[in-house]
Amino acid sequence: MDKEELEKIKQKALQEHIPIIMDDTLETIKKYVKENKPKTILEIGTAVGYSAMCFCELLKEDGYIDTIEREKERIQEAKQNFKKVGVQNKINLYEGDAVEILPTLDKTYDMVFIDAAKGKYPFFLNQALRMLNPNGIIFADNILYKGYVMSDYNKHKQRTAVRNLREYIKEVTENPELETEILEVGDGLAVSKKI
Ligand code: SAH
Ligand code: MG
Repeated sequence: MDKEELEKIKQKALQEHIPIIMDDTLETIKKYVKENKPKTILEIGTAVGYSAMCFCELLKEDGYIDTIEREKERIQEAKQNFKKVGVQNKINLYEGDAVEILPTLDKTYDMVFIDAAKGKYPFFLNQALRMLNPNGIIFADNILYKGYVMSDYNKHKQRTAVRNLREYIKEVTENPELETEILEVGDGLAVSKKI
């Protein structure tokens, strides 16, 4: 894995305002999985592949990552990036809308990272739960969405996103099979362990 190349990709993504995973969020995820490394990871929302490439370091030997992205340009860039960094053998990129792709997957995962359309988080959660192994863990990024989720903020543009993020938090908190923490790292991270 070419770390210098990965750092260049990170800097380019930041310059282009691509919403890549924040450093503290990544560090937090690493802490959660370092004792019990995942063999299979599902990521929803690849962008240019930055977080997926970082997650390669968390994998057990022979492990792999499935990641889903719908924007053509980002798909092309992610594919190139995987080659540049030398992790193309560890990452499968599914091209298309996760809402359509997820129901067709028939696999199991030790870790799921949800980082795509906020209005679809409850749907992504149900799909993640369907495929999550016992002792598996689900991370949902941007769960506090700039603080809107925990305030009475109700601006029209973000209303659907905020409602669905609140619904996600309610579902993971009330699900008796999950142990959940909502962390104020980055833009908010929901951590749900299957017990
Ligand atoms: N995980 C990446 C950042 C993802 S940004 C990283 O940290 O490096 C969110 C991405 O999700 C965007 O590229 C967007 O195009 C994609 N996305 C949003 N909704 C989607 C959907 N329904 N299906 C597939 N991709 C989606
Ligand atoms: Mg994010």
